[in-house]
Amino acid sequence: MTETSLAFQAPTRFGAYGGAFAPETLMAALFELERAWLEARADDGFRAELAGLLRDFAGRATPLFHARRLSDELGCEVWLKREDLLHTGAHKLNNTLGQALLAQRMGKHRILAETGAGQHGVATAAACALLGLECRVYMGAVDAARQAPNLQRMRLLGAEIALVEHGQATLKDAINEAMRDWVGEPDTTHYLLGSALGPHPFPSIVADFQRVIGEEAREQILAQAGGLPDVAAACVGGGSNAIGLFRGFVDDEEVELVGVEAGGEDVENDRHAARFASGEPGVLHGSLTYLLQDADGQVLPTHSVSAGLDYPAVGPEHAALRDAGRARYTYAKDSEALEGFQLLARLEGILPALESSHAVGWLSSEREALAKKRVLINLSGRGDKDLETVERVLGGEA
Ligand SMILES: *Cc1c(COP(=O)(O)O)cnc(C)c1O
Repeated sequence: MTETSLAFQAPTRFGAYGGAFAPETLMAALFELERAWLEARADDGFRAELAGLLRDFAGRATPLFHARRLSDELGCEVWLKREDLLHTGAHKLNNTLGQALLAQRMGKHRILAETGAGQHGVATAAACALLGLECRVYMGAVDAARQAPNLQRMRLLGAEIALVEHGQATLKDAINEAMRDWVGEPDTTHYLLGSALGPHPFPSIVADFQRVIGEEAREQILAQAGGLPDVAAACVGGGSNAIGLFRGFVDDEEVELVGVEAGGEDVENDRHAARFASGEPGVLHGSLTYLLQDADGQVLPTHSVSAGLDYPAVGPEHAALRDAGRARYTYAKDSEALEGFQLLARLEGILPALESSHAVGWLSSEREALAKKRVLINLSGRGDKDLETVERVLGGEA
């Protein structure tokens, strides 16, 4: 087949956002990936194999938990979707298992991934070990220095780590390097992107593999609470756990969808990652979306206490949901996330990831407006990876 006979089949845009702003050398690989994904999702055999791995390897379905003591404390009815109980400690495995299986189906034996905190790297390395695929993980040198245990986990799972020294030497630079590698060897290699961002078809593929969160949660809350939630909320880094939750409720107009970004130290002083609070539409990593940028369109540095939310752009589907007024986006500062972390630890016996703690911190800060409401929070991951950060920030208080 010649390249010119190829074109995308599925919509590449979410409202005005998304698209595939990729170098021409990548377009053939993106067309091929989209076609393979559309075929796989229509194939009962593929769906059954993935469902089997999600059940027996990853531990799905994850529970829905009624947090009674937190509910009493806040004066609303809080339900937690427990993605923290998924194998490797976060929702990321839903996507890495799906894409690794897709790569295998495409006959690709080499997997590339980027990672910030190392969570996506670990989830990718685990999926590759399971399926016998080669795995190379790009990681900024600055991030690597902060995340030694996850480096060790990735290596033990058989992944090769490629440190990225240039730029800010963090996640954004790791994505650039992974894309560069993919351009060089698209025939043997799949780039396993870790969030609902990047050029089409990635935002659609990742949302498709994460929608299991919202679909399960909807059934569970109907069965356990006897009705839909008034509010469904999740933290938003690239946006994959949030879009996974939202997909389950987006057609239920009575359910308010809330995305919580990283407010960092303060949104006024530029030390944050609240793209909707102060970003503007622009292109990064192949997608048109809200972006923290200067007047020349140069990407600005970001800050968050949680590495998983520390990214200058947001998945394009969220930009569209916001424009359409279907979802509302707000932020929680570092200090509010730490408060959320402590609330859940002391009242419910759960140490949440600092990313997920943003959603809990937001809930706590809006408790008056949410009085008596039924609120569903996606607890995207567990906090074991964050203990050192929490100890350092809280000092003697913890
Ligand atoms: C990576 C990560 C996030 C942020 O990524 P999204 O794509 O926005 O979901 C949130 N929570 C946890 C626990 C993570 O590991």
